[in-house]
Amino acid sequence: MFIPFQYAQVSSFDHRRQFASDNNAGCCPEVLAALQDSSPGHLVAYGSDAITAKAKDAFRELFETDCEVFFVFNGTAANSLAIGSFCSRHHSILCHRHSHIESDECNAPGFLNQGLRIVTVEGAEGKVDLRSVQEALRGKRDIHASQPRVISLTNITELGTLYRPKEIAELADFAKSKGLAVHVDGARFANAVASADCAPAELSWKAGVDVLVFGGTKNGLAFGEAVVFFKKQDSSDFMYRMKQSGQLASKMRFLAAQWLGLLSNGKWLEHARHANAMAERLYSQISQVETTKLLFPREGNAVFVKIPEPIVARLYELGWRFYTDVGPGGGARLMCSWDTTEHDVDQFVADIRGGA
Ligand SMILES: *Cc1c(COP(=O)(O)O)cnc(C)c1O
Repeated sequence: MFIPFQYAQVSSFDHRRQFASDNNAGCCPEVLAALQDSSPGHLVAYGSDAITAKAKDAFRELFETDCEVFFVFNGTAANSLAIGSFCSRHHSILCHRHSHIESDECNAPGFLNQGLRIVTVEGAEGKVDLRSVQEALRGKRDIHASQPRVISLTNITELGTLYRPKEIAELADFAKSKGLAVHVDGARFANAVASADCAPAELSWKAGVDVLVFGGTKNGLAFGEAVVFFKKQDSSDFMYRMKQSGQLASKMRFLAAQWLGLLSNGKWLEHARHANAMAERLYSQISQVETTKLLFPREGNAVFVKIPEPIVARLYELGWRFYTDVGPGGGARLMCSWDTTEHDVDQFVADIRGGA
C-alpha cells in the first residue's frame, strides 16, 4: 500500500504560509498520493483511459446526475471554453463587474471565442443583481448589437460572498426566459457548497446551471479544473475546443487522478470547510481590532478588510504577503486555504494588533 508522505520529511523547501491566495498553497497529500498511485504502467492518452473514466464517474456520483465532465489545466481556459460552447461570433455574455472573466483573464474569453463580447452588470457585494440584468437586456437591439447568450456567475464571488441555491435559481429562471445559458465560475465552488451547506446538485443543475467550472487548484490539486456540463448536448464539440486551445492533456490520467484524490474520500468538502472555518476565525478576530474595518460579509474563505497603511507596511516588514488591490474599497484580501492553520490566523491578527 502506498503511504502518503509528509512534506516535512521530504521537502527541501519550507515556505511560510500566507494569506495572499488559496492558489499559493501546495498540493494536498491525498492528491500527491493519487498521482503516485496512478503512475505505474501504460495507459492510452488524451482521456480515453480508465482513470479518467473513474474520475468522471466520481463527478456523476457527486452531482447525482449523468453529467459530462472534462479536465483542463486552469480556470481561465475552463471558463473561456465552457462559455464558448454556447456562443457564436455575434454573442455576448453578461457577468458582474467584479468577475474573473472580466478583470483577470486578459481577454481570453474573447480571444478563444472570436467576436465574443463581455457585458458587465452591477450588484452589491459582488453578486449580480437581477434588475441590472434586466436593464442590460432591455437595451438589447436587433441585428446591429451583440446578442446576449450566457450569464456568468462566480460562486464564491470575487468579493468572498455566496450565492445560495435560491438566488442562483432566480437569476437562472430569468436567464432561461430570455434564452440565455447559465455558466458558473466555481474556482471556489467547494467553498460555496461548504458555506451553503447543501448538496452540489442544489447549487448547480437543480438551480438551473448549465455548465460549471469546478475549481481544483484552490481546493488542493497541484493544477487542474473540471468543466461540468449538465446537458450532454451542450458539450458535443468540447474536446475539439480543448485541443485547439492547447488544453487537451495527453497524459490526461494525471489531471483526472488528482480529482480522485479529492472526491473519492470527501476531501474536497473537508478542505473547503476548513478554509472557510479559518476565514471565519480570521473574520471574528479582526472584528475585535478597532483600527480595522471589515468590508464584505464572510461567506467563503476570504476576508476583505481595510487595514491602515502603516499597519499594512509593518505586516509586510514582518514577512506577511497579501493583496490590497483586489476588488473595490482598497482593502486587504486575506485568503485562507486547505492548509491554513489556527496558529497562522492567530499570529497574523497578533501582528495586526502589534502594529496598532
Ligand atoms: C483563481 C480563479 C480562477 C482560475 O484562474 P486561473 O489562474 O486561470 O487558473 C477563475 N476564477 C476565479 C474567480 C478565480 O479566483
